[in-house]
Amino acid sequence: MIDLGKLPEPSDKNIAVRVKPAAERAIRQGHPWVFEESIVKQSHLGNAGDLAVIYDRDKNRFLAVGLYDPFSPIRIKILQREQPERINFAWFVKALEVAQARRQPLIDKGITGYRLVYGESDRLPALVIDRYGDTLVMKLYTVAWLPQMKTLIAAMRKTLKFENLVLRLSRAMQSQRHDILRLHGLADGQVLLGAGDLTQAHFIENGLRFEADVRKGHKTGFFFDQRDNRQRVRELANGRRILDVFAYSGGFSVYGLAGGAKSILALDSSEPALEALKANVALNGLDEKRVGAMVTDAFAGMRELVDTRRKFNLVIIDPPALANNRANVQKAVFAYRRLAELGLALLAEDGVLLMSSCSSRITMEMFYNLVTRSAEVAGYDLEITETTSHGLDHPIGFPEAEYLKAVFAVLKS
Ligand code: SAH
Repeated sequence: MIDLGKLPEPSDKNIAVRVKPAAERAIRQGHPWVFEESIVKQSHLGNAGDLAVIYDRDKNRFLAVGLYDPFSPIRIKILQREQPERINFAWFVKALEVAQARRQPLIDKGITGYRLVYGESDRLPALVIDRYGDTLVMKLYTVAWLPQMKTLIAAMRKTLKFENLVLRLSRAMQSQRHDILRLHGLADGQVLLGAGDLTQAHFIENGLRFEADVRKGHKTGFFFDQRDNRQRVRELANGRRILDVFAYSGGFSVYGLAGGAKSILALDSSEPALEALKANVALNGLDEKRVGAMVTDAFAGMRELVDTRRKFNLVIIDPPALANNRANVQKAVFAYRRLAELGLALLAEDGVLLMSSCSSRITMEMFYNLVTRSAEVAGYDLEITETTSHGLDHPIGFPEAEYLKAVFAVLKS
C-alpha cells in the first residue's frame, strides 16, 4: 500500500490568470473548462495541480479558481466560481456533502452502488468517485489532482463511510506511467486504504446483488449509468427471449432474468466478463440454465445468429464508446448502423430493441436518426417508444457531461 503522506503538497503560490472575453462569458455562465488558447496572460509558469485564479479584465475581480493542468488543452478545470473561497479541507468536505445529498433518493431506495461524484457536474472536475457498498473507487482523469489528493482523501474520510478506497487512473494518466516522478508511485487499481487483497466489491441495485472487479474492470468496475434502463428491461422481460450484446458482467442479463425472461443469450468478446456475468446470476439465486453465453466479436456473433435464423423478443445492444475522437465519428456511425441492422434482423414480431451509445460525440439526434434510418432501409416498421439518458447520479451540469443516450423501439408486425 502506498504511503499517502508522500503525495505532493499543493503549491502555496497561486497562478493569476486573465482570459479572452468569450472565455470570461463562458465562465460566468458556469462552464467549467478554460482552454489553453483562451488564456491571454498568466503570472508564472506553474505546475500541474497548482491553483489558477482567473480575474476579470475590466475590474480585476475574482471570476473563478481551478486546477491548472499544463498537460491538457483544458488548461484550467474550474472548482469554484463567483464567490472567492479557499480550496482546502473544508471546501472539499462541502463539495462531498452536496454530492452525497444529491444521491439521497438512491440511498433511500437501498441502492448501495452509485456514482457519488460525477466530475464537473459535482464541482470536482476530471474526477469520479463511485460507491460499491463499503468500497469507494476514485478515478482520476488528470495528474492535476495529485497535489490535492491528501486533502481530498482526508475530506472523504470525514464525510463518507467506507472501508476500502481503490484508485483508478484514466488511460491518459496511465500512458504517463513511465514518469514515476509525476505519478508519485500511484498506479491504476491500487488499494489506497483498507484491504490490500480486495478483488471484488459487492453492492445492491434495485434489490439485486452484484459484484464488480473494481481494480481491473472497465471504468471503475460497473456501469451505474445504465441503472434506469436496466430497470426498464426488467419490466419488459417477462416471458421474453433476450439477446444481451456487449453483456460485460451482466447488468442487463441479471435484470432480465429477475424480470422473468424465458432465456438470455449474452454475447461479449471477453470470457472473464461472461464468467463475471454467471457469478452475478448465481449471486441472485437466478436460474443459470436459462443463460447462454457466447464469447465472440459482436458483429460476427450477431451475423452468425442471423444466419441460423434465431429470433429474440428483446435485443439489447450496449456497445463501448465507438467514437472517442472527432476523426472517427463517421466510422462510429457506420458501426452503430451495422449493429442496428443486425439487431433488427434478430427481432421477432413485436420485439423490443434497446440500443445505447455512450459516445458523447454522437448526439441523441444523430443516434435517433441512425436507428430510424437502419430500420427504413431494411424495410422494417419500427416505432421508437422512448429515449433516455443517464440517471440522477450522473447529473448533467454542462453540455459535455451528457454522453449516454438510449433508444427503446418496438418492431411492428
Ligand atoms: N452492457 C454492459 C456494459 C457493456 S461494456 C452493462 O450494462 O454492464 C462493453 C463491453 O463490450 C465489454 O464487456 C467488452 O468486453 C465488450 N466488447 C468490446 N468490443 C467488443 C466486440 N467487438 N465484440 C463483443 N464485445 C465487445
